[in-house]
Amino acid sequence: MSPRRPSSPPTAAPASARAADAPGLPPGLTAGRNGSAGRPGSPGRPKPPRHLADLGLPERRAAVAELGERPFRADQLSRQYFTRLADDPGEMTDLPQSSRQELADALLPRLLTAERELACDDGTTRKTLWRTFDGAYIESVLMRYPGRVTMCVSSQAGCGMACPFCATGQAGLTRNLSTAEIVEQVVAGARALARGQVPGGPGRVSNVVFMGMGEPLANYRSVVQALRRLTEPAPAGLGISARGVTVSTVGLVPAIGRLAAEGLPVTLAVSLHAPDDEARDELVPVNRRWKVAEVLDAAWRYADVTGRRVSIEYALIRDVNDQAWRADLLGGLLAGHLAHVNLIPLNPTPGSRWTASRPAAQDEFVAGLEAHGVPVTVRDTRGREIDGACGQLAASSGGPTPLDPPHALRAPRGYIADTPAARRAQGPDSLDR
Ligand code: SAH
Repeated sequence: MSPRRPSSPPTAAPASARAADAPGLPPGLTAGRNGSAGRPGSPGRPKPPRHLADLGLPERRAAVAELGERPFRADQLSRQYFTRLADDPGEMTDLPQSSRQELADALLPRLLTAERELACDDGTTRKTLWRTFDGAYIESVLMRYPGRVTMCVSSQAGCGMACPFCATGQAGLTRNLSTAEIVEQVVAGARALARGQVPGGPGRVSNVVFMGMGEPLANYRSVVQALRRLTEPAPAGLGISARGVTVSTVGLVPAIGRLAAEGLPVTLAVSLHAPDDEARDELVPVNRRWKVAEVLDAAWRYADVTGRRVSIEYALIRDVNDQAWRADLLGGLLAGHLAHVNLIPLNPTPGSRWTASRPAAQDEFVAGLEAHGVPVTVRDTRGREIDGACGQLAASSGGPTPLDPPHALRAPRGYIADTPAARRAQGPDSLDR
């Protein structure tokens, strides 16, 4: 059975983003490739302020030298940002008092302002709604578990991929985030942890998942630079293990190939959601450009090059993509490959005609994959309940306000079952390991 169409067609991207349409993509899809109008700093769109996280260490040294400072001050400033997680120039006591403010103004401008914080799971899950310098809104989520902390980050304000079951996909792309705007989401989480603001005592970020707003591979250059900043050791970056980082994509085939060649052994997650082109053309419209077989070929090449097991994301949608024959088809496609499947019970967006699968259908789907020897995990619905509870809490705290943009109360999808209960249920195959 082919999936039903959403009650309303995906909203086209705003005019500013439509200009970023890439050749080869269906109308309305905005790839925001390098050089496109989706980039920060494109003509007509002011650039986010330059930040040291946008720059490699040599460029930071050059920038510091331009201010008349000794180049090693760039290393000191970088350690303040990435290691000490300082955000007040007054704390940067290894820098001369006379130049602290000037250096911070030049290389550590404020990029994100927290508009709203939502906590659940006794404070160990925290969503932050951020406002950017130009008034766009993005979200990040910190999730703490025993021995591990995952940050779920946004790579774009909005998204141009128009997946009909995804809240972000309905509103279109506003713009790409800069490298530093991506990195700053992780640094902000690291800072809150280091300062003991998250229950469980001082801690560190061990995992990062690109599963917030946006399509990371449509903002390729900024995302790859962010991956470098996140994984390079101090003073260049934050020093998080690449094995703890997951990039989730709708399946932009050329960009998957490029990513494989970057020498960054991050985990790739592919949002497949259907094993057949008929259903996937509807659920993930970019499939009209790159078909299931091409996406999976790119995934297997990625696994070959990096040695990393690919995560196949599959949102189970009642009577749309959850039939036993689709499980069998998917199992056949994945069997023998370095992959595991993450089944995500659909988290219906407001007004959606679609809902999560019945438990029996879900069990049958799991069994259908296991029959092919394909490793599969189901994300626990407890996370979804918490997600809903969080959103409800915010909604009841005053309703829509100017601080309530379309995405404000929506949790980034994909983090939804990354809860302690889900983690226990999922065992060693969890998404971000
Ligand atoms: N653009 C990237 C990141 C998106 S968010 C991508 O598509 O992979 C991470 C995951 O959450 C994706 O697999 C996405 O399809 C899924 N998702 C989005 N909305 C959802 C919803 N309402 N219910 C369940 N999963 C959803």
